[in-house]
Amino acid sequence: MGGLGRLRRAAGRLGGRSGGRALILLYHRVAKLRTDPWGLAVTPGRFAEHIEVLRERANPVQLRELARALDDGGLPDRSVVVTFDDGYFDNLLNAKPLLERHEVPATVFIASGFIGQEREFWWDELDRLLLQPGTLPERVQLSVDGKTYDWELGETAEYTKEDFQSQRGWKAWAESQTPRQQLYTELYDLLRPLDAGERRRKVAEVRAWRIDGAGRRPRHRPLSVKEIGRLQEGGLVEVGAHTVNHPLLSELSTAVQRREIRQSKARLEEIVGYGVSSFAYPYGKSADYASETVDVVRRAGFACACSTVTGVVRRSSDPFQLPRVWVRNCSGERLATQLDRWFEG
Ligand SMILES: [Zn+2]
Repeated sequence: MGGLGRLRRAAGRLGGRSGGRALILLYHRVAKLRTDPWGLAVTPGRFAEHIEVLRERANPVQLRELARALDDGGLPDRSVVVTFDDGYFDNLLNAKPLLERHEVPATVFIASGFIGQEREFWWDELDRLLLQPGTLPERVQLSVDGKTYDWELGETAEYTKEDFQSQRGWKAWAESQTPRQQLYTELYDLLRPLDAGERRRKVAEVRAWRIDGAGRRPRHRPLSVKEIGRLQEGGLVEVGAHTVNHPLLSELSTAVQRREIRQSKARLEEIVGYGVSSFAYPYGKSADYASETVDVVRRAGFACACSTVTGVVRRSSDPFQLPRVWVRNCSGERLATQLDRWFEG
């Protein structure tokens, strides 16, 4: 627990020179990916640069220190919290060694229903089935909620390695350039609000479209129970809850939201053997959860919760809707400039 001495030495007030601001950084994956339509991954090389910058130009603290400081004010100047959402295996494989080397604490928010699953998260599986080279039927169909959707892929039914090379940088928030990209975006929007069982069935239908199978990608999987144990070993990485099925909470009844939130907490506590005190809303924009959700989280016994609303944390921030800053796959230098802007801007 080498980091703690340093934390205490640096302890001041949430106030100080950074003008009452602290930052919670949002990561998902540390991996080198061929495609990354949602910009979830930072490469291990870039992540190493980020961690060095955080060590040199900021004060990395635990999320619980930050949450406590909203109450009593004791926090280093330029405090930064590192968080990861979802619970990818690469958090253990690629992120933890770097966090350890520089004694940077982190919180990993895990969607407990995916633990130990061999399959990829559904949004990654869509990427594998639709945005990797290979062949789909020229025309595909899917029925969702009683409505049938039709897509004509035409000549993009065959996705060659050359096409792939020129299109693999596409991001899902940009306009679709090809029928395949459009298919990906529309399927993502159709599947996102479904309940977990229905979504699994629909992804299985999409899987059956792939004429040539589309090989597995074992490193894209979620963490297993054993790996979560290794991840939190040493106390530097804290485990937080992220629901069971990663649903769009705003679509669910209060009772189902309560189940999603409480069961994920209970399951993770069973695995790690301590009280799980932090939570992150899936998707995390304010439209993705309801105001009652915040209440459900508070009553479930969490100390704080993170959204994905962009912003800095201030003394006045709601500890159950802490804003975060999504870190892209940028250079360390660029991150350093962004930090200055967030802290001083
Ligand atoms: Zn998530």
